Amino acid sequence: MPINPGTSNNVERTRDRDLEFSKLMRPIPGIKVCDIDPTPICPNCEHPILAWEVKREFRNIYWAVCHSKYTRILALAFSIPAYFVYHQPADGKLTVTLLNADAEFPSQTYTVAEFQNWVGEQQAKHVCTSENLERQKIA
Ligand SMILES: [Zn+2]
Repeated sequence: MPINPGTSNNVERTRDRDLEFSKLMRPIPGIKVCDIDPTPICPNCEHPILAWEVKREFRNIYWAVCHSKYTRILALAFSIPAYFVYHQPADGKLTVTLLNADAEFPSQTYTVAEFQNWVGEQQAKHVCTSENLERQKIA
C-alpha cells in the first residue's frame, strides 16, 4: 500500500511518493512549507543554476506567478532565473516561462530532448562565482 498515493497531478513513477517528512512539517504553527522541485545544480560550484515550479497545469500567467511565489523568492536569494514549467507528459512537451523578467514573461515550448538541451544551455551560460566556489568547499 503506498504511503501517499498522490493526486492525478502529482503521482511519481513509483506511485508511492513518500511525503511523510512534508506531512510532519505542515502542522507546525507559524511555519509554511514548500516542496522544491528537482533543481539543476552546477557540477563545479554546486550552486543552483535556476529555480522552477513544475506543474502539469497552466491556467494563465497570473496563476503561474501566484503559484510560484517561493520559487521566485528562492531565485531572488540565489540571483538566478525563476521559471514556471508546464509539464505536458501526454504530449511530450514542456513549456518554460521566465517569471522574474521585468515586463514580460517570455515562454518557449520544447520536446523532452529540446528541454534537456535547453537545461544544458542554461548550465553553459552559468558563471561559477568565487563566492559560490568558496561556499562549496565548506559545505
Ligand atoms: Zn557553478
